[in-house]
Amino acid sequence: MKIDVMGVRFDNVDMDEALSIAGDLLRRDAVSYVVTPNSEIVYEAMADQGLRDLLNGADLVLPDGAGVVLGSKILKTPLKQKVAGVDFADRLLGLLAENGGTVYLLGSKPGIAELAAEKMLAKHPGLQICGLADGYFKEEGPVIEKINQAKPDVLFVCLGAPKQEKFMAAHQKDLQVKVMIGLGGSLDSFAGTVKRAPKWMIACNLEWFYRLLKEPWRFKRMLRLPKFLWAVVRRRIGGA
Ligand code: UDP
Repeated sequence: MKIDVMGVRFDNVDMDEALSIAGDLLRRDAVSYVVTPNSEIVYEAMADQGLRDLLNGADLVLPDGAGVVLGSKILKTPLKQKVAGVDFADRLLGLLAENGGTVYLLGSKPGIAELAAEKMLAKHPGLQICGLADGYFKEEGPVIEKINQAKPDVLFVCLGAPKQEKFMAAHQKDLQVKVMIGLGGSLDSFAGTVKRAPKWMIACNLEWFYRLLKEPWRFKRMLRLPKFLWAVVRRRIGGA
């Protein structure tokens, strides 16, 4: 079931259900893509029909932040839970390792995907990482060609939003992969170059605050969270 949060239609799933849908997508013949918007992205999409269409065109739309879930509750159409993109990706790697599936890592600064791959292999022995490339390419053609030579089951597209959503939608027809997932800065998390918040902070929905402390230059961008919540409250009380 889909739940509309300020124009973005999220799948109302918990982590296990999200993984089960990903399994279904992997068994299909078509090329699918998954998006993991947080409230910053939803706020951006509120003013950008093109981005909204890209998000709503995905085969699976996961709520990557506590802000989105809170927004859905304020709107009285509560989503079951946050399904953080990086956690979803990690669980999916576990399943790929068990089932002999392959993954290709695309994105982040040069050297980061290699470091992320090392950490992934240490955690998921047997995982087949069939290729990787940084996200600072000038032309897309050679990148597509390399991915198509590797023919991965899963492609992690970690270029930040909305670049990754545009990339996935634009190349859905020419990429020989089964499932692509837009995962923002997840490779930095896997690599350990950007640390995630301690578990207690994640549990208290304070991951955004930890991020703000660690990366204060994101302040302006993070102002979209209160702006998003304010827009949600206005919609709730006034139908705005
Ligand atoms: N990035 C990239 N190519 C670009 C721009 C950004 O690969 O042209 C990477 C960047 O290095 C970072 C990620 O995309 O790893 C964006 O991370 P951020 O945390 O800003 O994304 P979010 O998860 O918030 O969307």
